[in-house]
Amino acid sequence: MATIEMKNIVKKYGDGFPAVNDVSIDVADGEFLILVGPSGCGKSTLLRMIVGLEDITSGDMLIGGERVNDLAPRDRNLSMVFQNYALYPHLTVYENIAFPLRLAKWSDKDIDAKVREASRTLDLDEHLERKPANLSGGQRQRVAMGRAIVRDAKAFLFDEPLSNLDAKLRGQMRTEIARLQKKLGITTVYVTHDQTEAMTLGDRVAVMKRGVLQQLATPRELYEQPVNLFVAGFIGSPPMNFLPATVENGQVTLPFGTFPLAADKAAKTEGKGLLMAGIRPEHFEDVSVIEEGKLDSSRTFAAHIDVREWLGDQQYAYVPYEAEAKVQDQLKELARESDSDSLRTQLVVSLDASSNAAEDSDTTLFIDTDQMHLFDPATGDNLTVGL
Ligand code: ATP
Repeated sequence: MATIEMKNIVKKYGDGFPAVNDVSIDVADGEFLILVGPSGCGKSTLLRMIVGLEDITSGDMLIGGERVNDLAPRDRNLSMVFQNYALYPHLTVYENIAFPLRLAKWSDKDIDAKVREASRTLDLDEHLERKPANLSGGQRQRVAMGRAIVRDAKAFLFDEPLSNLDAKLRGQMRTEIARLQKKLGITTVYVTHDQTEAMTLGDRVAVMKRGVLQQLATPRELYEQPVNLFVAGFIGSPPMNFLPATVENGQVTLPFGTFPLAADKAAKTEGKGLLMAGIRPEHFEDVSVIEEGKLDSSRTFAAHIDVREWLGDQQYAYVPYEAEAKVQDQLKELARESDSDSLRTQLVVSLDASSNAAEDSDTTLFIDTDQMHLFDPATGDNLTVGL
């Protein structure tokens, strides 16, 4: 096991385009780190540089404290777990796990001890004589991991291992990988474009965009304290709502009303002209389900519900609003960058399951402005991060 340190890593391909641009990330021993971002953000390139499948243009890559820039992949002792697990179909589970040890010319006795130890850890004892084709996806995943742990690899590296599975199996395998990683305590770097995987699997998540690291934080911090518009729009489903906003005299004006804003947020944003407000769907509520005496009526507004989606434990309501062309263009750009098609001039609000707010009807909604973020529309920076 080992730490992985990436220091100012740059990768330029032949045409000079920086696929990875000055990325620095330290992965702690035993940590589960996720690299996430839209297609083309450079996450696979970064992973391939850790493994040694891609040259590093500049910067230092350290594994277990040792600089590995010039080491061949086989000398880095890392284990890459591929999408199809790359198991040998004609070999039994036992022989698949034993494979790297046979290559390394271990004795039969030592191989047997090592394979049985891995098989116990991975609950594969009863499957050792079976062939991969007869195993479930989860069992195959465990065999692939077994082959990695017998080698005492310093770290596991995954490149979108679940992307070609159906949704149900993906959910199961996600849990399986999380459980195994915790049990084995092996440093892991996992590439995905799926923000659900990113949020549920990782100790920390590195969000990338166009080769540049945007934020490196725990899933909770990313969700609650995104540093910029890109991270705010990329993490969360349905995504955060973005709205044009101005802040004057301790109040925020949105397309559908003016509401009080906490003093610390107002102090950071007052008089800065047109801003972009970000507020998550769950920070709205139908006032009719809020207990009497608990409702702050200065933060309510009339809304027309266009479409409603009832999910059993909650419901989403869609509330269109008017916005200037400039704001609409900005929202479109944001949607394009974050691979999201749901950022439009409409609010998506999450209402309590008991709300009777009906489709194509008017209702009164509460907006929790304490949970609102305010972004500089030019730089995308979150002006209220940490507040
Ligand atoms: P995806 O999820 O689509 O695989 P990614 O985030 O993993 O995307 P990379 O595959 O790392 O992105 O690619 C990052 C950038 O580098 C892209 O702009 C891509 O076009 C470019 N790139 C990748 N491989 C090469 C190559 N061999 N030669 C030139 N450019 C490349």
